[in-house]
Amino acid sequence: MDMREPNNPNTDAAQLTLDNPVTRHPKISPPKQDQPEPGLDAKLEPRADVGEDSYVGTGRLKGRKALVTGGDSGIGAAVAIAFAREGADVAIAYLPAEEEDARKVVSIIEAEGRIGIGFPGDLMDAGYRGKVVDEAAEALGGLDILVNNAGKQISVDKLEDLDDEQLAETFQVNIMSMFTLTRAALKHLPAGGSVINTTSIQAYDPSPNLLDYASTKAAINNFTKGLAGQLAPRGIRVNAVAPGPIWTPLQVSDGQPKDALPEFGQDTPLGRAGQPVELAPAYVFLASAESSYVVGETLNVNGGKTSP
Ligand code: NAD
Ligand code: MG
Repeated sequence: MDMREPNNPNTDAAQLTLDNPVTRHPKISPPKQDQPEPGLDAKLEPRADVGEDSYVGTGRLKGRKALVTGGDSGIGAAVAIAFAREGADVAIAYLPAEEEDARKVVSIIEAEGRIGIGFPGDLMDAGYRGKVVDEAAEALGGLDILVNNAGKQISVDKLEDLDDEQLAETFQVNIMSMFTLTRAALKHLPAGGSVINTTSIQAYDPSPNLLDYASTKAAINNFTKGLAGQLAPRGIRVNAVAPGPIWTPLQVSDGQPKDALPEFGQDTPLGRAGQPVELAPAYVFLASAESSYVVGETLNVNGGKTSP
């Protein structure tokens, strides 16, 4: 039995409730902890709020079909759950080691009466990259939303200690797979379709210990704007979401130095880390037709950190 406290005291509050953003979610001070990469939501202390008890849909993605990479945990899980609650069928891609988290998200999607389906695999594996989009489209009966959200973040203090293997892997997972997956998705995406890439505040305000990661996030913003211009005439919109410090398994699987965990996110104007559920409405907005004139935009969801 899970003895941890639920993270969000307002478990019956939807994302539409009027309350104070400073106190809407607790100011957490996570204990130092370590999980092997990629980390599990199931083991995060305190729990992250991915919206399973709070996100209420209003039919904004009725009948839509989405693939969310990294949809097992953290931001991707919150997005997958919100999409299902908004009426979409949702496929999630994740690493085989994340089966426990993935099963939970798929069961929440299915509980909405939507198709929920998981595609385990490693985005560093060319075979998997080459087929996951087609398989998702086949299982869903089409594809009109692609959320490129999977990401790898390993903190390294000194450039001399950043080895070629990590450098290549971070670029492969974070940005190169966006090229491959989006290219594959173009066979399926109709006019009205939407591609949403997860970038980061790190794109503009890089931490000295995240050189490789932050560089990929800057590249993602650039890729998003360029591709948006290319695909807009075809009626496919490309946008990005740039989260600030959000409490997810990425942070405890060497994404942050262990000493930084107790203060994680407290340097934002809101004074607390964000929860994954607080990202979901940005993705819902960019996926839905209500953002039809929003193209090549990066929506910052970062607790008030300064961004361009
Ligand atoms: P997370 O650990 O919950 O999600 C990251 C996911 O990436 C994992 O669940 C995993 O499925 C996937 N992934 C990693 N390596 C992979 C690989 N080799 N093959 C396939 N999938 C792989 O953490 P999160 O914080 O929700 O991360 C989601 C996105 O948000 C990432 O792109 C991350 O860079 C971005 N982001 C997070 C924060 C934050 O503070 N948490 C801030 C800015 C941006
Ligand atoms: Mg995960």
